[in-house]
Amino acid sequence: MTMELLEKLESELQGLQEKNLIRKRRAVETPCGPRMKVGGRELLAFCSNDYLGLASHPLIAEALREGVDLYGTGSGASHLISGHSRAHVQLEEKLAEYVGPNLVEPRALYFCTGYMANLAVLTGLAVGDKNTEIFSESLNHASLIDGARLARTSLKVYPHADVAALEGMLQASTASNKIVVTDAVFSMDGNLAPLPQLLALCERHGAWLVVDDAHGFGTLGSRGRGALEHFGLQSPHIVYVGTLGKAAGVGGAFVAAHRSVIETLVQRARPYIFTTAAPPALAHALLTSLDILGGAEGRERRAHLQALVAQLQDGLRLRRWRLLPSRTAIQPIVIGDNAETMRAAAALYEQGIWVGGIRPPTVPADTARLRITLSAGHSTRDVAQLIAALNELERT
Ligand code: PMP
Repeated sequence: MTMELLEKLESELQGLQEKNLIRKRRAVETPCGPRMKVGGRELLAFCSNDYLGLASHPLIAEALREGVDLYGTGSGASHLISGHSRAHVQLEEKLAEYVGPNLVEPRALYFCTGYMANLAVLTGLAVGDKNTEIFSESLNHASLIDGARLARTSLKVYPHADVAALEGMLQASTASNKIVVTDAVFSMDGNLAPLPQLLALCERHGAWLVVDDAHGFGTLGSRGRGALEHFGLQSPHIVYVGTLGKAAGVGGAFVAAHRSVIETLVQRARPYIFTTAAPPALAHALLTSLDILGGAEGRERRAHLQALVAQLQDGLRLRRWRLLPSRTAIQPIVIGDNAETMRAAAALYEQGIWVGGIRPPTVPADTARLRITLSAGHSTRDVAQLIAALNELERT
């Protein structure tokens, strides 16, 4: 009987293998950065989300060590029992202050991961309300899709960036609690959602606008506050999710919104309530991370990142492959075919350049791609090396 169960799994895995869809993990032996070692070999990496190069910043590392001295290694309990520490409080206050100018009466809530934050927002805004409808953008991140499913409400998916289609759906809806949810920067495409138009629609139709700014927080806006600052938006309708394991260089995530939304999540969101609080040392380290993001160094790092984006776009000479029109650190090249994409990623890896190959179901069928991510940790020489390798590879 046990053997049958295992055989079933084995045959499913075999099926993935045959379709060239097996995903592999590589164990990194050095800190996350522009150069990382795998199997003793140094690689020039263009695949992390460490957009500002903060994941191995000495001041943040020092703050993390200090955090361990102050608070130990673990929180020991969930937030509503005894896991909520002074470090969490300080971080939440600082986050609310940081992104607050784009919200109304803001508060912030720290989560262990962005995945959990998204589950909490969508279940928390919907729970107890039988008359909720969620309107989800078609390219949304898996955690938003899962959050919408977990909310057990009516769920409508609107086509990518199609504001008119969404308007039609909102008009047709009779739900009293409407939630529009979108990535701010699409994680596999790098483009921005039309947030000003989406917000106008939400205000007109009395809907929430949940904005997942995992890839914009820290990198967009002159002070790094993210997509809302970039577009100059402010509204009590906005529920903002930022992640702290990407540009902020540490880990975890936060939700920032009107204080009533945050209190609702504390009281009712199961993915917040029923999990052990993140180690307080992480929250303590993030205080330093936010100082860097919001200060002169953050501004310089964002400017350098933008210069690298321009360098890549100017330098690529692609004929068959297609660089997607993105102005963010995510610069995907669509190849289309799964096998060709993985061959290209493998050929780059051979040369010591690490770029992620992304296949369905993470992206739609026939749009497999190289997901290149740039970081302020890269130099112009690093990017020149990548450009030369890509231009050469496409020709062979
Ligand atoms: N939202 C988006 C758009 C993401 O890309 C990701 C992670 N890649 C998440 C949420 C989840 O964040 P975390 O990694 O902190 O769980």
